[in-house]
Amino acid sequence: MSKKSQLVAQKSLATLLLLLLFSLKAIKLAAQTSEIELFPLANIRLLGGPFQAAQQTDLRYLLELNPDRLLAPYLREAGLTPKAPSYGNWEDTGLDGHIGGHYLSALALMVAANDNTEAKNCLAYMLGELQRCQQRDPDGYVGGIPEGKEMWEEIKAGKIKAESFALNGKWVPIYNIHKLFSGLIDVYILTGNEQAKNILMPLADWWFDVFDPLTDDQIQQVLVSEHGGMNEVFVDVAAITNDKKYLRMAERLSHHAILDPLRKQQDKLTGLHANTQIPKVIGFEKVASAMKKTDWERASTFFWETVVQNRSVSIGGNSEREHFHAADNFQRMLTSREGPETCNTYNMMKLSRNLFLRSGERKFIDYYERAVFNHILSSQHPEMGGFVYFTPMRPNHYRVYSQPQEGFWCCVGSGLESHGKYGELIYAHRKADLFVNLFMASTLDWREQGIRVRQETAFPYEQQTTIEIQTNKKQDFAVHIRKPIWLEAVDIHLTLDDKRVNYEEKDGFLVIRQAWKKGSSFIKMALPMTIKEEFLPSGEPWVSFSYGPIVLGAKQGKEGLKGLFADDKRMAHIASGTLLPLRDNPVMLAADQQVSSAVSIKDPDKLLFELHQLKREEEDVTMTLQPFYTIHDSRYTLYWRVADASTLDSLVASNRRLDSLQLLLDNNTVDAVIMGEQQPESDHHIQHEEAYTGVDEDAHWRASKAWFAYELKNSKNKAGKIWVKQERTSDACYELWVNDLLVKPVDELLVDEQFKLLIYSLEGDDHAKLAADRLLVTFKACNDRGTGKLFEVRLLKE
Ligand SMILES: [Zn+2]
Repeated sequence: MSKKSQLVAQKSLATLLLLLLFSLKAIKLAAQTSEIELFPLANIRLLGGPFQAAQQTDLRYLLELNPDRLLAPYLREAGLTPKAPSYGNWEDTGLDGHIGGHYLSALALMVAANDNTEAKNCLAYMLGELQRCQQRDPDGYVGGIPEGKEMWEEIKAGKIKAESFALNGKWVPIYNIHKLFSGLIDVYILTGNEQAKNILMPLADWWFDVFDPLTDDQIQQVLVSEHGGMNEVFVDVAAITNDKKYLRMAERLSHHAILDPLRKQQDKLTGLHANTQIPKVIGFEKVASAMKKTDWERASTFFWETVVQNRSVSIGGNSEREHFHAADNFQRMLTSREGPETCNTYNMMKLSRNLFLRSGERKFIDYYERAVFNHILSSQHPEMGGFVYFTPMRPNHYRVYSQPQEGFWCCVGSGLESHGKYGELIYAHRKADLFVNLFMASTLDWREQGIRVRQETAFPYEQQTTIEIQTNKKQDFAVHIRKPIWLEAVDIHLTLDDKRVNYEEKDGFLVIRQAWKKGSSFIKMALPMTIKEEFLPSGEPWVSFSYGPIVLGAKQGKEGLKGLFADDKRMAHIASGTLLPLRDNPVMLAADQQVSSAVSIKDPDKLLFELHQLKREEEDVTMTLQPFYTIHDSRYTLYWRVADASTLDSLVASNRRLDSLQLLLDNNTVDAVIMGEQQPESDHHIQHEEAYTGVDEDAHWRASKAWFAYELKNSKNKAGKIWVKQERTSDACYELWVNDLLVKPVDELLVDEQFKLLIYSLEGDDHAKLAADRLLVTFKACNDRGTGKLFEVRLLKE
């Protein structure tokens, strides 16, 4: 919080009064079908260890944000004068205000998890200002979307122009306002703050007023545009108000293009933008739970299974360049600089948590544990703070971190939240029975039952945990301790007050049921970890290693870590430094994929290991492995290509070929857009008319009956040529205009059966006109069949 806004917060009498009213009283929404319930986050505290440290780092980052800058879009849209300029990056290019919503959630989490006073002050200040904005609007609307109110009026009138990443020409406005809804709900549920509810309810009624008059078809049309989990939000609103009309709204806001194949247990996810879909499924599950729709329940479980079991890598992340790739082909994942996106895992964990609460099945926690240790914990810089967007699986690449005043990406928003809620699922209860789900040093205060729990462990640096159960009276109940999947083959060693204890094993949990004496009892559970290899779910010959649930990586060099701490440039969230040659990555030599003996322990206390059986061309190589979450500020490898002696030579030759192609493109590309993909298109300020997008296999394209255009960056006027990747045969055609100049193709290259490249020259007499930092590249249809499907445009030096 800036000094100025601190002053504002402190001076305001209204705010002080609010603070007095701000009693930390978590709200419990009526449990729908689930029997297992979470404890309020405010009853759980982390005790030391990497998770508490990560929470503190996140808190520092959170408090460096200036609420007045986050509020600026809201004030502007309400016709008020902003007290500070809005932030840049995604916050002033269309997604204005989205971080403000995440900020509310993150502050509420920090208030609940830490009782942090500064976070409380910021929260009170935010709510006061948001309410001030809302009071200016007769309909109860408040939002940061540029000229949002006008756009919502169009929607209300049934004028709907929806694309995957735009609605009526705005950059995913429902996704944006979903963050505000979620933020207000989180504040209310986590802290019991009534003011949040007092902003939420008029906002929900404004939404109702806009969307209720629309037909089901019109709503489905709107839902084509990325919309976060608006269905989830309305299940919560229904639970808060106990009014079924909001539940019907939640049901209507469920996107059938995604839901219906899932209800038939069909995986139609290839090519879809991953993080657009996951929140919808969180909503399907919540609607299912609230309305007892068993087929929707099965649909959400099926989605979870297909993503976790068929589409995820060892750290628990999924997707490449933000999209689900073909489940049987991880090739692009392993060569791309844009691996799993952190938001996806944040949302998959939410879904896992909810599915666990409903079903009590251990597998959901097994995934949650994998994701929290290996993806989420690793996605924040431990000392500097800052959040990771993409975690490349490409061997020997690296990740970049956001900076508080510069980067305002989606993964900053979800990152601010993620590290505040490590405590949420450590414990749970079913009536009077206690569940211990995760091995994290922490305490639980279960006031209603007169029970306190204290879990002491340095896991994974210590292979056991001690759980102290302290009750204020003698009472009967069961303690269910998760037996994680990685302990499946191991004899369990469990003691109570240092004596062997009777337990039953049920649904993946060790259940100690007895009369607990008044005072303290100590359960000790051994957590012996072993090395396990994990091939890709597709069966492709790439392997990753874990020790217990901890995924191991090899820390590598620091060369060329361009943009390690990202600036405010539009594409700064991508680790754009040099892709090092594939041929330099050691290959694991193993017959019949037998790799388990390749890892040996080097230093058990520090969790250091050695990886053998590696060959870099002719040379034998040994690499050191360590927990992936401890690797920062360097390149790393998580997956190794496995080959046997007979395939090694052809692999080396193929890597060399790919390297030279990559090098040629890397050295020559000035800028490029994958057409039809959300992020690259919006990063290049797409404009269009009568345009549409689609996916063939997993290749995205765009086409138009009229025209579409991108603004390409031509720094230092280096571009000499343009490549356009398109269908090899098509009777459609287009003209290519660069700025206001019609450019003709000079060459054509056939890529394969499906694609060809048309090559345009920017050199010649008119070139002077094109010597600009930014080139507006326009594709105009030249007949009524439109432009045809175009896949990629690339500015090249030569
Ligand atoms: Zn993200």
